[in-house]
Amino acid sequence: MAPGIPFPLRDPQPKDTTAQLPQPSLSVKVICPDCRKIPPNIVEEFASGDLVCGDCGLVLGDRIIDTRSEWRTFANDDGDDPSRVGAAANPLLGDNQLDTVISRRDGGSGTAKDLNKVHGRATAVKGERNLLQAYKEISAMCDSISLSKLVSDTAKQLYKRVEDEKLLRGKTSDAIIAACIFIACRQEKVGRTFREICALTRVPKKEIGKCYKALQNKLQTDTAVMNSEDLMSRFCSNLNLPAYVQKAGVDLVKRAKDLGTLAGKSPISVAAACIYFISFLFRYPKNTKDIAHIAGVSEVTIKSAYRQLFGERTKLIDLDSLKGKPNTEGLTFDDLPLP
Ligand SMILES: [Zn+2]
Repeated sequence: MAPGIPFPLRDPQPKDTTAQLPQPSLSVKVICPDCRKIPPNIVEEFASGDLVCGDCGLVLGDRIIDTRSEWRTFANDDGDDPSRVGAAANPLLGDNQLDTVISRRDGGSGTAKDLNKVHGRATAVKGERNLLQAYKEISAMCDSISLSKLVSDTAKQLYKRVEDEKLLRGKTSDAIIAACIFIACRQEKVGRTFREICALTRVPKKEIGKCYKALQNKLQTDTAVMNSEDLMSRFCSNLNLPAYVQKAGVDLVKRAKDLGTLAGKSPISVAAACIYFISFLFRYPKNTKDIAHIAGVSEVTIKSAYRQLFGERTKLIDLDSLKGKPNTEGLTFDDLPLP
């Protein structure tokens, strides 16, 4: 720096015209309460974790965090200074995340590189890499069909268990991932059908089914039976049906269950048939083709379940009780198509 040019002050003190007014303190200063020197001479004693006044030796604070590097760096090359260590510990990975790795850097002799390679081979970091890859796939798939983090974390935990305990020998990791996502959905009571998981993971339905059955026996998990009510809201919103129609649909499913009208039918076909019924009743008619496409069941299935609903229509829906409720004026069974 050229002589005569003043060193720029970090905190210049301008001529203060508002000194009289009380000003909120915007910067917190640590000052020794004993000697009150300005600027304070405060020393961080990292070895003991204390904050000490450099003049009188008073301990001002304990448990300070050492923010310095864990090591000294001499290198200007080889990428950035690893002044901090790695990401936060991931409970889904093994417990060997605090392992030591031999650095590849040395004076250029190449020995360190060889040592690093040998050491890497000896300590099996490969398994962890596969796990990470699987976790990444699970996250991406769950995101793409808007499954919550809870579901994807459950799927990851299941996957880890399957890998750790070698529960599914000889299955591809794709099939295991698909089965894990499916079970996670069931456990968290998120209605997703086999067909949807097939479309998502591109694993054949049969293969997912095999893995699912094998896991269900071995894990002893309580996989709740998917119920039609859970599927209802998604199917209805995919068909652009208004919320009150959806609500009436859920009521219909419950009533049909109580009466045993559709006993023995799969939850998906029950939901599909009820949507068909309620959509015509509420004058938002949806044809079987559209419903079949959304629900992933055949039109024949919907029609045969509908036939049973139609037969018991007077027991299932009490038109008189709907009177006076919004959006229900003049509903009649005449709007329903004949099965
Ligand atoms: Zn002091």
